Amino acid sequence: MNNFNFTFNATACNTCGGKCCTGESGYIFCSITEMEQISAFLKLPFNEFTQKYVKKVGYKFSLIEKPYNNEYACIFFDKETKKCSIYDVRPKQCRTFPFWDGFRDTTSEDYELLLKMCPGIELDKKDM
Ligand code: SF4
Ligand code: SF4
Repeated sequence: MNNFNFTFNATACNTCGGKCCTGESGYIFCSITEMEQISAFLKLPFNEFTQKYVKKVGYKFSLIEKPYNNEYACIFFDKETKKCSIYDVRPKQCRTFPFWDGFRDTTSEDYELLLKMCPGIELDKKDM
């Protein structure tokens, strides 16, 4: 991925327990197209899907959360497998993690914090 100080090792997802889908409360933003794709994947009418799984945040839409280990998890986080239950149609926000703009200027000082959020991140020391 261009202009990032780190690379990503996807094998870490197998053992990480879904840190990017759990933790403090947050937003999992979805576009209308993404919501249509998820509702089709779940074989739910669009209106039923949005009433059940989506909340409005200002002018945007977010998937809702559920309680998990005294914190929160995305409603589509499977507590048994510790994986996303809608993986093939997960929103762009999820597909692009951890390559988010806010992480672009990661420095070695930020690295420990970032590693706690995503153990798949591998710092590219030559770019520091
Ligand atoms: S936090 Fe990182 S390593 Fe863990 S599941 Fe998410 S992307 Fe994979
Ligand atoms: S949609 Fe899937 S990948 Fe995205 S936060 Fe929810 S469980 Fe995680």
